[in-house]
Amino acid sequence: MNTRFEIPDLILYNGTIFTADETDSVCSALAICGNEIVATGESDEILGLAAPWTKLIDLKGRSAMPGINDCHSHLWQAGQTFRGVVLFGIDSFDMLKEKLAERAAVTPKGKWITGCSYIESQFKENRSFTKKELDEAAPDHPVVFDRVFGSSVANSRALQLAGITKDTPDPEKGEIVRDPVTGEPNGILHGNAMMLVRNVMDVASGMAGDGAGDPSPETFIELIRTALPVYNACGITSNTEAGGTRNLARAYHRLYEQGELTLRMALMPSWYGFNFLPNDEMLAHVIDDYDFAAGYGNEWIRYSGLKMAIDYGLTSKTALKSWAYVGDDGPRQVPLRLDLDKLDGYVKTAHDAGWDIGIHVMGDIALERAVEAMYKAWKANPREHRHNIIHAYFPTEKALAMMEEMGIMAIVQGSFIYGEGDGYPELLPPDKIESYTPLRTYLDHHIRCGLSTDMPCGALDPFWNMYSAVTRKAMRGTSLGTSECVTVKEAVKMMTYNGAYLTREQDVKGSLEPGKRADIAILDRDLDGIDPEDIRNIKVDMTILDGKVIFTRN
Ligand SMILES: [Zn+2]
Repeated sequence: MNTRFEIPDLILYNGTIFTADETDSVCSALAICGNEIVATGESDEILGLAAPWTKLIDLKGRSAMPGINDCHSHLWQAGQTFRGVVLFGIDSFDMLKEKLAERAAVTPKGKWITGCSYIESQFKENRSFTKKELDEAAPDHPVVFDRVFGSSVANSRALQLAGITKDTPDPEKGEIVRDPVTGEPNGILHGNAMMLVRNVMDVASGMAGDGAGDPSPETFIELIRTALPVYNACGITSNTEAGGTRNLARAYHRLYEQGELTLRMALMPSWYGFNFLPNDEMLAHVIDDYDFAAGYGNEWIRYSGLKMAIDYGLTSKTALKSWAYVGDDGPRQVPLRLDLDKLDGYVKTAHDAGWDIGIHVMGDIALERAVEAMYKAWKANPREHRHNIIHAYFPTEKALAMMEEMGIMAIVQGSFIYGEGDGYPELLPPDKIESYTPLRTYLDHHIRCGLSTDMPCGALDPFWNMYSAVTRKAMRGTSLGTSECVTVKEAVKMMTYNGAYLTREQDVKGSLEPGKRADIAILDRDLDGIDPEDIRNIKVDMTILDGKVIFTRN
């Protein structure tokens, strides 16, 4: 038994508790006093610490684990997503129409219905739906459903409100997809064509912002309020908001001051390549404006890295990489999100100012360039850091060596395998499918991984995320091979402790050990020896945050 000799006010016992401590030990009981864990061990000895007033929770063989740390998601956008139709897990057009019709039935006619996030390969039809399916389910509402990246489908009402007709020219960097016979828009909008609808919808929904492209703090607050309980119901107690503006930070500050934050939040201010603002000029001042650096804040709200991005998406065929997609002759010329010649300078400035940096990369070239920039800055100024590569699908040998040497983390998503993996055989050569997001390779190189959802680009369900990390299988059964599988214990570590490490809070939270914050997820079944196929069915029964029960299922 490991204890701090304090009389507990809450004891969990008779379970399999995955502690995510240094040896990934499993115990059957733990005791909490106030907001702290005070003892872990076996049920009889921990129950022996109970006072008459101690509350006891019998886990009845179920598992508990540290509160989940979704160390890369976009919570305010999750709030937007939850206000619309959630398209994750929908596997046919019939099911899509059913969900939309349900929503239309409870939405006043004429009001916008939104939906996120689909990808063609999730449907058994294996293609995108068009305005036809949306019109059939919701003829009286403007509807726009967003793909996980780069496209939307609008119905006839939405196209009409946006003034899009067969005569509307394609905008620059955008395409209004048309019926090959009639020339009529079929509802599918790529790139900037999405904005034609978005601009009309934003005005109608109050998301138009303050004129500088930044929605108001009040707008953000409403979206965050929508998302918080959904995260908590998934066992999530910590989250990194991966990129955002000053108004988004203001919204979190206010919710914290009002005692409404039910997640421990880490904020990543947007920087070069990940800009919601109209121009990059505004980014030059970010470091001066904030007047502090990574690690600033408290246990509830703190600042971690600056969010950057080099390339766009993998399934949208805009990854900066050295090899060809299936069906292409060679690598594509792709647009970039920042000036690559300036990358070293940006990274050095942030590194020297004390900021950690997280860089979104999709392709192997983008990944290696990001790692190189970090490596150069660190060699010149070898300070402690938590620099990280976001998504990190295809590390080169050279990049792996540099990541290992300087301790760069990989912030990865099993949720993408789950949601997109069924489409990979049509997109990626076989060796790239097998080596996509290579968790085992990262572990072999002692590279710390944070397993996160990237909600709303991936589904929020932490156990779909864990399922795909452990099995390498997608929603409809496609296997990415078995060479990069990790164990349940390794996945738990990546979903908890490693997220705390990322924000320099590994001594405060992230594992279930005496002296740490009592942030705990109680699951509805036993994780120990679970059939891997069953992982995706796991639900959270109870979430404990800072020693208090904040969610109970049913
Ligand atoms: Zn993201």
